[in-house]
Amino acid sequence: MAKKDTSDFREHLANVDRKGKRVWLYPKILIGKFYKWRTWISRVLLLLLMLGPWIHFQGQPIFLFNVLERKFILFSIPFWPQDLYLLALGMLTLVVFIIAFTAIFGRVFCGWACPQTIFMEMVFRRIEVWIEGSPSQQKKLDEQPWNAEKIRKKTLKHTLFWIISFIISNTFLAYIIGSDALKSIATDPVGKHVSGLIALIIFTTVFYLVFAKLRELVCIMICPYGRLQGVLMDKQSVVVAYDFNRGEPRGKIQKSETTDVKLGDCVDCGLCIDVCPTGIDIRNGTQLECIHCTACIDACDSVMQKIHRPEGLIRYASETEFSTGKKFKITSRIVAYAALWAILFSVFVTTVAMRHDLQASLFRGKGSSYTQQANGEVTNIFEMRVVNKTFHEMKVEILPEDKTQRIKVLSDDLSVKPGEQKTILMLVFMSQKDIKRNITPFMMNVKGNGEVLNTVKGKFMGPVFE
Ligand code: SF4
Ligand code: SF4
Repeated sequence: MAKKDTSDFREHLANVDRKGKRVWLYPKILIGKFYKWRTWISRVLLLLLMLGPWIHFQGQPIFLFNVLERKFILFSIPFWPQDLYLLALGMLTLVVFIIAFTAIFGRVFCGWACPQTIFMEMVFRRIEVWIEGSPSQQKKLDEQPWNAEKIRKKTLKHTLFWIISFIISNTFLAYIIGSDALKSIATDPVGKHVSGLIALIIFTTVFYLVFAKLRELVCIMICPYGRLQGVLMDKQSVVVAYDFNRGEPRGKIQKSETTDVKLGDCVDCGLCIDVCPTGIDIRNGTQLECIHCTACIDACDSVMQKIHRPEGLIRYASETEFSTGKKFKITSRIVAYAALWAILFSVFVTTVAMRHDLQASLFRGKGSSYTQQANGEVTNIFEMRVVNKTFHEMKVEILPEDKTQRIKVLSDDLSVKPGEQKTILMLVFMSQKDIKRNITPFMMNVKGNGEVLNTVKGKFMGPVFE
C-alpha cells in the first residue's frame, strides 16, 4: 500500500478526507511482543466477560446490573434501590481511580482492556483478515465490482459478524436481566418474551454496526473517556510515544549515505501508520485518537530489528522523559488523586461492610405521643421500616433489649421478600415506675429468621410522677 501522507494531521482526522468523507482504514496486523501479550490478556478478559453472568454464588449471579428493577449485584453483594447512594459512591470511586490511572499511564485501559478494542482487534479484525486476506487484498476486494467471490466473502464475513454480535448481545442482556431470565427467553414460547426478543435484536444490530461499520469512530468520536484525555493527562503521563530526539530527522537509509545530513533512526517506512487502527501517525505527537494499542511499537521494533538498531524508537514514555531525559516521577497531582481515591475507597468499603442485612429505622407513630393504660403501663406507638438486603425471604421479629419492656406488633405479615421494604406498626409498653424522664431511650433487637441482624434505638415518651 502507498505510504500515507499525514502531514496535514491538524486539518482533519486520519479517517476523514479533506471533503469530510470517511476514509475506510485497513490496518495491518503485525504480531510482535506487545501483540502477543495483548492476545493473552484479551483471551482471559473475554473469557471472564462471557462467563460473568453465568457464574452463580449461593444461587445468585455474582454480577447483575438490572437497571430496569434497580437491582445490582457486584461480587455477590446485592445493592437494592435503597442502596443507590452506595452505588453512586462506588461509581465516584471508580471515576477517581480512572482519572488517577489515566494521569499516570494515559489511555492504557483503551488498548489493553476495553471490550471495544478487544472485540474489534482480537475477534472481528482477525475474522476479516481470515476471510478477506491482508489489508491490500481487503482494499482490492472493496474496490472491485460485485462478483461471485466478493458476494461469497462479504456474505460469510457479515454473517459471522452478525452471529458474534448476537452472542455479545446475549451476554450483555444476561448482565442486565440475569442468565436465568435469558434462558427463559430462549426456551419459552416466543409470545411470552416479546420485549426481551426485541431488546436482543436491537442490541445485536447495535453491536453489529459498531464492529462492522463504526469501528474506530467509537474511540475517536463517541467514547467520552477518549475525549477526556486532554484534561486527564499531563507531560508526566506515560503514553505510547515516538522518541523524536532519536528518530529525527527521519529519512530512508540510502539517503544518509548520499547526503551530509545525519539522519535519525526513523527510516520513514510508514509501518507505524499502516498498523494503527485509528490511522494516525504517532510521530506527530500524542493525539486524542491514540488508543494505546501498542501496534505501532511492535511495528517500529520489527523495523529496528531489521536495520540492526535498538528497539524502542516508539515506546511507553512521557513527554518529560523525551525533553529532559528524566524518567517517570510521581507528581503532586498523582499523589492528590491517589489520596482522594484511597479516602473514597475506604469510605465505600467501610460503608458496604457495615451495612446490615436487615436495615431498620424507627419512627414515632404519626401525631402520637403516649397513652396511659389502666394497668399502670404507658404505651407509645412506633413504625419500623425494615428493608431486606439479602437474597432470601426473612421472617422479622422485634424484641426489646430490656426485658422489663414489652412490644406488641400490630402488623399481620412480618415476612419481607428480598429487596422489599416493609413498615411494621407496633406498641411499646413501659411500666410507669421505669419512666424517670419525659423521654426515656430504649433499644430493640430486630431479628431476621431467628438471628439478631440489627439493633435500633428509640425514644419513649411518658409522664413523670414524683
Ligand atoms: S498510535 Fe500506536 S498506540 Fe496509538 S492507536 Fe495508533 S497504533 Fe495504537
Ligand atoms: S515504523 Fe519506526 S521507522 Fe518506520 S516510520 Fe514509524 S517510527 Fe519511523
